[in-house]
Amino acid sequence: MSRRFLPRRHLNRLHQALVQAGYEVIGPRVKDDTIVFAPLEQVDDLPWGWQEQADAGRYRLQHTAGRRAFAWNTGPQGLKPWLFQPEQVLWRAEHTETGLNFRAVEPSPERLAFIGLRGCDLAALKIQDQHFLDGPYADPFYRAQREQLFMVAVNCGRSADTCFCVSTGDGPEARFGFDLLLDELDDGYLLQTGSAEGDAIAAHLPLNKASVQQLNEAKTALAGARRQQRTMPATAELAQLVDRLDHPRWQQVAERCLACGNCTSVCPTCFCSKQDSEGDIRNRQAEQVQRWDSCFSEQHSYITGKVVRHKIQHRYRQWLVHKLATWQQQFGRSGCVGCGRCIAWCPVAIDLVEEAHALLETPKEGEHG
Ligand code: SF4
Ligand code: SF4
Repeated sequence: MSRRFLPRRHLNRLHQALVQAGYEVIGPRVKDDTIVFAPLEQVDDLPWGWQEQADAGRYRLQHTAGRRAFAWNTGPQGLKPWLFQPEQVLWRAEHTETGLNFRAVEPSPERLAFIGLRGCDLAALKIQDQHFLDGPYADPFYRAQREQLFMVAVNCGRSADTCFCVSTGDGPEARFGFDLLLDELDDGYLLQTGSAEGDAIAAHLPLNKASVQQLNEAKTALAGARRQQRTMPATAELAQLVDRLDHPRWQQVAERCLACGNCTSVCPTCFCSKQDSEGDIRNRQAEQVQRWDSCFSEQHSYITGKVVRHKIQHRYRQWLVHKLATWQQQFGRSGCVGCGRCIAWCPVAIDLVEEAHALLETPKEGEHG
């Protein structure tokens, strides 16, 4: 569908149409000095005028004189926690008079409509789909919730200082995976549909023909967002990281890295998990719980009686080489969508882009791996 124009005063009609279609609307809101996706009762709850200033190890929200709801780029989380929950009970067991009774936990998906997703979020979702759905054993919890989503994406009209989605090919515009796509202008939204469900919702909206000026304004904003970005080495170059396993930079970065795992928690494509078996105090009931894990935790590399990556430099190397290089063999692309979250939320300001450039450089004389 060609793009049409939704006046700003009618954005609430989009919210209403989604509610009437049976969705709970999830959108960006200001919470704890960040932008989070949370239930959105009304469009007044959107982060009108808020924008983030992000840099390595830094994320601050500031309120601007602007009248836009989507002038920010990312918060600490995108879609990941909604589909791949930080904690998920897989099954329960209990002692009964006749013996042990095992019960599977059934998925309980909700019909959710997300407003405000970005190109990088949808690119990350596509990667998560490959991991959770395309293998021989699809994740039933992920699959059930994935089938209940409606996506309203927004093209980015600016880039944060941590963004580099142009380098990864995932933004600043959303190219796939949305039901509706918006470009935000001062007085309203250019809207295009991307699915039959999107067409059905758009049919309820008071849309006007978009003017040439509005179309040009959106194009100029996207071009500006592209220009603002920093540059990650090309994907083919990143594949060469597998030949840099002895680079002295691993040790240098390990001297700063706390192995806290923040970078993997905020990364929208990271999917590592562990399972814990938990019993009650009387040992009558037990649960098998899946939780997010991180390749930065020492135990994550525990294999048959031995931790194989006991040094932080080896864990950082595992994360970066897998994410940027060996992921290409596994999934046909790099595991990074250029959202910059791992950079902003690293407490010691370790910067993935800076590290990738440094690792691809030849070590200086006197440096040892
Ligand atoms: S790179 Fe930063 S965020 Fe990641 S584990 Fe190290 S200190 Fe934590
Ligand atoms: S590695 Fe960092 S920049 Fe890339 S997708 Fe993950 S959090 Fe975003």
